[in-house]
Amino acid sequence: MPNPSYAFFNDKIIPYSEAKVGVLTHALNYGTACFGGIRGYWNEEEKQLFVFRPLDHFQRFIESTRLLCMELPFTKEALVKILTDLIQKEGYKGDVYVRPLAFYGDEVIGVRLHNLTPILAIVTVPFGRYIEKEEGAHVTVSSWTRIDDNVIPARGKISGGYVNSAFAKTDALRSGFDEAILLNQDGHVSEGSAENIFIFRKGKFITPPVTDNILEGITRNTIITLLHDELGMDVVERSIDRTEIYLADEAFMVATGAQIVAMIKIDHRPIGTGMMGEITRKVRDLYFNVVRGRVQKYRQWCYPIYT
Ligand code: PMP
Repeated sequence: MPNPSYAFFNDKIIPYSEAKVGVLTHALNYGTACFGGIRGYWNEEEKQLFVFRPLDHFQRFIESTRLLCMELPFTKEALVKILTDLIQKEGYKGDVYVRPLAFYGDEVIGVRLHNLTPILAIVTVPFGRYIEKEEGAHVTVSSWTRIDDNVIPARGKISGGYVNSAFAKTDALRSGFDEAILLNQDGHVSEGSAENIFIFRKGKFITPPVTDNILEGITRNTIITLLHDELGMDVVERSIDRTEIYLADEAFMVATGAQIVAMIKIDHRPIGTGMMGEITRKVRDLYFNVVRGRVQKYRQWCYPIYT
């Protein structure tokens, strides 16, 4: 992946090569940072780049900063403006990923959240797939337990918390799987290392509730809406047992980066037919049309970059 040319850093856009921190930086030592992950989709017919639900992403980003006691002097609208300026300056004409990061930049010793100064950084990069086998992933239930709300809140995208995801992801990949599913301390399903989870069983969609140590995913919300409004299917938000995934007719993971990943096998057991399910295929096709700005009804979710 080539480096971007620019970064928003602190209060302005500078060359990416100058957006640097020292080794004593608080966030680098103690994980006291939070981030976001937003996608922009290029629409070839309209020669337009649509960023998907940026206000919702920045709303959650600001909530993550609040969990870390940061006071960032930016509204979500101001953040969308920065993102727009940055992508325009890069001049991308293809799919992109946007990474906002707020971190404590003080070069001091001492673990805490108070008496520190947050710094905002935003970079944008060209981006393709996050998970190679989007059409059929073999997943595993991780031996690592999901971080609990009273450990590091998973509803915030807190940098330090992602070490939990990294443990699970590396072990899954080194064992030949495509992604890991983490269980809570009580044994219920929480989420993938960077994705929310949906299963379809006995004619119903089920996804873990926001109180089961999940990130409150924007894609999760998008999919709940599309399943309900376009496919006429309700999604039940309740705790899920591990073996309900084993017995599901269909299952998929959703996230901005991963998009919609069909889970076709879990721990060597086929899910449903062992191939992408029919509803999964439908909702996946619909999702890709929506994010690219091709469905008029959902155009309000698609923010155009070029004017
Ligand atoms: N869970 C985790 C742990 C994640 O990192 C992500 C990716 N941001 C998601 C779920 C999905 O969230 P979203 O749909 O907002 O990208």
